[in-house]
Parts: sequence; C-alpha cells; structure tokens
Amino acid sequence: MYNVKSLKAEEFINHDEIMETLAYADENCDNLELVDSIIEKAKLKKGLTHREASVLLMCSDDKRNEEIFKLAKSIKEEFYGNRIVMFAPLYLSNYCVNGCLYCPYHYSNKHIARKKLTQEEIVREVTALQDMGHKRLAIESGEDPVNNPIEYILECIKTIYSVKHKNGSIRRVNVNIAATTVENYRKLAEAGIGTYILFQETYNKESYEKLHPTGPKHNYAYHTEAMDRAMEGGIDDVGLGVLFGLELYRYEFAGILMHAEHLEAVHGVGPHTISVPRVKKADDIDPDVFDNGIDDDTFAKIVACIRIAVPYTGMIISTRENEECRKKILEVGISQISGGSKTSVGGYYEPEAEDDKSEQFDVSDTRTLDEVVNWLMKLGYIPSFCTACYREGRTGDRFMSLLKAGQIQNCCHPNALITLKEYLIDYASEDTKKVGFELIKREINNVPNPKARETLVKYLGLLDEGQRDFRF
Ligand code: SAM
Repeated sequence: MYNVKSLKAEEFINHDEIMETLAYADENCDNLELVDSIIEKAKLKKGLTHREASVLLMCSDDKRNEEIFKLAKSIKEEFYGNRIVMFAPLYLSNYCVNGCLYCPYHYSNKHIARKKLTQEEIVREVTALQDMGHKRLAIESGEDPVNNPIEYILECIKTIYSVKHKNGSIRRVNVNIAATTVENYRKLAEAGIGTYILFQETYNKESYEKLHPTGPKHNYAYHTEAMDRAMEGGIDDVGLGVLFGLELYRYEFAGILMHAEHLEAVHGVGPHTISVPRVKKADDIDPDVFDNGIDDDTFAKIVACIRIAVPYTGMIISTRENEECRKKILEVGISQISGGSKTSVGGYYEPEAEDDKSEQFDVSDTRTLDEVVNWLMKLGYIPSFCTACYREGRTGDRFMSLLKAGQIQNCCHPNALITLKEYLIDYASEDTKKVGFELIKREINNVPNPKARETLVKYLGLLDEGQRDFRF
C-alpha cells in the first residue's frame, strides 16, 4: 500500500502507485484543460506532485511544451540565478563486491585494473585538483568492506580536507558511496561531509534485483531506505539520482519524485540535489543491451519537469553528457556541473597507461575545467566555486527555508562572484581571465542596491590584496 510517510521502501516507492500514476498520465496527457491547470499550479513555483508532473512529462502538445520549458527556465532563474556550481569527482577505489550489470566495477570483471588510492596518492590527486581550481569534490568508491571499509573512506576525507596547496583547498567533500548503516552515516556526518549522494539506479524493484544479481547492493529495501538512515545519522543534505536507460524513464521519473516527497514528509526537508546520469559505454559494458535509452529531447523534457516539480532541489549533470547536451539542459534546470573530470582511480595526477585502465565510464565532455568555465561565462552563466552555505551551517531545512523565502540569493550571488574571481586570479588562462573580469564588472553594475554594490566591490577588492576564502 502506498504511504508517503512509511519507512518501508515498498510503501513509499509503491509499485502500484507508480503504475496508477503512469496510467493517469496516459489518460490525461491530452486533457489540455487539466494540463493548463497543472501549469498554472506550477507557476506558483511551489512544486508539483508526482502525478501532476507525470502528466506534464507525457504531454505532447507543442504549445504546452513550450510553456513547460519556459516555466522551467524561469524557475531556474528565480531560484538559482545564472550561477552554476562547479565540482569534480574523485575516485578513491574501484574494488567492488557487487554484480551490477551496467557497471564495469562489477566483481566478475577480471580485466579492469583494480586500484585503491593510498593517502599519499590522495594528496597528489587533491593537489592536482586544486591546481585546476576545484574547491568541491564528490568522492566515489566501489563497495568492498575489506578493501574500502568506512575507516578508509573517513581517512580519505580527512586527508582531502588537510591538503592546502598554494591558495588551494577543498572546502566541501560530497560522498557517493554504497548504502550503509546509521552508525556509518553518523561517522560521515562527523567527518564534515557535504551531501551524501546515492543513486537509486532504478526504482523498479523487479528490474533492480535483476540488475544487481549479487552482492549487498542486491537488497532493494536496504538501498532505497538509505537516505532515511543517512538523515537519521545526522546528514542534512542528501542527493538522489537514477541511472537513465536501465528502466522506463517514466517509471523512474515518478519514482524519484515520490522519493523526494517521502523525504520531505518524513524529515521535513526534500533532497538537496537530484542527479540525472545516463548509462554509458564502459569496460565490459555495452549500454545498448539496456533497451530504455532516451534521446536528448526526452532527456531535456525530464530535466525541465523535475525543475518544475521540485524547484528547491539543485540538479546535477556530469561529464557523461557532451557539450551540446549540457548546454541544452543547463537552460532548463541544471544548477551544478562537473568539469575536467576523470573517472579513473588516480587519473588527475597522471594519465593511466593503455593497459592499466580503471575508468568507470567514457567521459563525453573531455574539456579542461578552464575550458568549461570559459564556455559557461560566454553562455552568460557565472561559474561558482562557492561552498559557503555548507560552511556557514546553512544545510538541510535551514538551507531550504532560506531558499524558499528567497533569501539564499543574497548570499549566493556575491559568493559566486568572489569565488569566481578567486578562480580567475589563481588558476585561469589569459582568455578566461579576460572574459571573467568583464563578466564580474557587468554583474557589479547590475546590482540594484548601491550599498550592496559597494560592499561587493569592497570584498572583491580584498582578493587583489591577496586575501582568500571569505564569504557571506
Ligand atoms: N558504489 C556506490 C554505489 O553503489 O552507489 C557508488 C557508485 S558509482 C562510483 C557512482 C554511480 O555511477 C553509480 O551509482 C551508477 O549510477 C553510475 N554508473 C555505473 N556504471 C555506469 C555506466 N556504465 N555509465 C554511467 N554511469 C554509471
């Protein structure tokens, strides 16, 4: 039985409710009166239910679709402005005991190089990432209680935060590791992590069990209930995601929104972020064997409908997607992107030899961070290296209530400009510097309040005097 507040996976992600939602969406997607009323509700910018959003997702009327994309764009602009938060993944270890059919780290893949970073290697990787200009990382690891126990992950986090190279530092470590216990989540919270990210892969239990035939990840309930345990363990910010391509996208869309509704109903705060990865070619993996791949237009519609349904949730896109696709979905909802990413264990310090590859999947956007930053600015975005909210304790429900009250903007815009200028001075190429300084000048001139403008100019000036790492 469907129960949004239940702590049991099969009740809050209830299969019958999803099937009824899909049937409801099929029956009503051409009911333009209903579609219009849902769009009107969405214009209030307070979100939609999974049923309402599913109707919009299936609507094929051109005029309404235009309105949906326009609305997604305006919600994005209202809540996130033109800022795009930058991050990079850092792969710690690809040892894994699971049998995930889509992932090259699966246990029976005997030809992929297995690697696990030592603490010295982490210092080298983090130094290389700092030299690129990164301030925010998402650490990634396979699941292996012997090779990658929680103690190893905690030690890595400590090492990452300890590296201070030139003006660099990693100021926020998000963590993407397998579902674990409340006790381990508590340890991660105490280690000062940012967001705990865990992709559901698929919300369909039957498919989930087939796609994860062996290993601890086979347990659907344990995996699906992980975010509740994370929050019980004191982690304020959690990040959801599904791996599009494995199951029917409509099923995943309803599922992920139901998951968001569940977190909001039980913990009073929805997910901090939603990621939208698509399955990619990888060692021992042919994405074409999964027959639920989606084209770029459908993908953009999904992003736009998520943006409308959960306006307060950040949306993340990785370098799994190419430049063209990233450009398209940035407009309609994405607020965080990775740049200059390597999906190999140890790939930042030095490239891997051809016969020693440990990568998780093929990266489609292979540009450097500098190139991505330059490109974003030319598209009119402010690449932001800001981590202030997390460090000022603006997390979980505190962050959400400020965001809902429109207050976060007052911190985000100046902080984005300060961290962008920090990046430009310390790491950017000459052309990126030129584009960036022009952009900052324009942004200062656009600040309507003279007092706020004066304060911003004062703080930006401190960077020229060599000061670093301050924030609103
Ligand atoms: N071991 C952790 C877990 O089980 O959640 C972390 C997983 S992995 C390092 C991060 C994510 O990469 C996975 O959750 C999965 O969605 C994604 N992934 C795995 N194989 C992929 C592929 N072939 N293409 C694209 N993404 C993939």
